[in-house]
Amino acid sequence: MKKIILTGDRPTGRLHLGHYVGSLKRRVELQNSGLFDKVFIMIADAQALTDNADNPEKIRQNIIEVALDYLSCGLDPEKSTIFIQSQIAELCELSFYYMNLVTVSRLQRNPTVKSEIQLRNFETSIPVGFFTYPISQASDITAFRATTVPAGEDQEPMLEQTREIVRKFNSIYGDTLVEPEILLPENCVCQRLPGTDGKAKMSKSLGNCIYLSDTAEEVRKKVMSMYTDPGHIKVEDPGKIEGNTVFTYLDAFCRQEHFAEYLPDYASLDELKAHYQRGGLGDVKVKKFLNSILQEELEPIRQRRKVFEQDIPGVYSMLKAGCEAAREVAAQTLADVRKAMRIDYFDDRELIESQSQKFKA
Ligand code: ATP
Ligand code: MG
Repeated sequence: MKKIILTGDRPTGRLHLGHYVGSLKRRVELQNSGLFDKVFIMIADAQALTDNADNPEKIRQNIIEVALDYLSCGLDPEKSTIFIQSQIAELCELSFYYMNLVTVSRLQRNPTVKSEIQLRNFETSIPVGFFTYPISQASDITAFRATTVPAGEDQEPMLEQTREIVRKFNSIYGDTLVEPEILLPENCVCQRLPGTDGKAKMSKSLGNCIYLSDTAEEVRKKVMSMYTDPGHIKVEDPGKIEGNTVFTYLDAFCRQEHFAEYLPDYASLDELKAHYQRGGLGDVKVKKFLNSILQEELEPIRQRRKVFEQDIPGVYSMLKAGCEAAREVAAQTLADVRKAMRIDYFDDRELIESQSQKFKA
């Protein structure tokens, strides 16, 4: 079986460090690894509209931002098909059929959707499109016969839902769809990077993000005002590591060589943590260290972005070509689905023949 990647992001804003460690960085590595036959990267605008129906301009404006973030992180249109969800009409048709295979109560149990409903204060006025977006995600994944979905931990329930749909479809209609697997970041703090405010998840909707396209000064300011340990008031006070966002980010981004480069008084992250815990190490010093590390990671991304920003029409052309290529693949899967579901009436000579025999007899 071919190894195929499908993953993507909602164009509800520029991409942030959570996207980067949760999925984007890995995608680029996988794209360049040569281990995958195909890589599909989707800008999920139709999904973004499920909770932004009244603000289409926001989605429209952010398509290019996400595309620029992709290119500046190293996604390469020569190696990956980058496309926009709404341009692939076949996905809607797949969702329409998959809806028959999922119950309302099953959707209600989805923990990610549950917490997102709370976050958006939908209460009882949940848009149907939003409620059913896990089904639409199953269409996205299966349309491209994806075997592998690199994503953060919030996507696990979506993958589980997709696998259930695949199994149900295949058991009713015969082996047609491919069962995908999630590929979580190996470093578990990257599976759900917290926000700069210490909240459980860095998320555009929570406004607690460091964006890949933030200037060096913006990044520095955000790092310097990050949530740490509220009990660590004076430098001499013993500090907590658990729930301390600065240390969580160090767990995500710090490498051994960073100490020699930016903080030679310490040999390792463990040593730094131990000093913080016993007291005598101020937040400012740790934050400055984190800032240096983040700047090192983000500067090349910012530089590449500047280059791509000079050719916006070229970026749109790249997306258009990606949409055309993606549509061909989705159309092939849809043809297989229609055939399996016995709704390919006009392509089935045998059907027409047997029906005419039936009425002749
Ligand atoms: P929104 O608030 O619009 O939902 P978001 O910030 O949650 O935006 P998505 O577009 O929903 O971002 O997520 C895209 C991808 O990035 C998914 O694979 C998701 O798992 C991953 N991701 C998003 N935020 C984080 C995070 N804080 N840590 C790890 N991965 C993340
Ligand atoms: Mg999200």
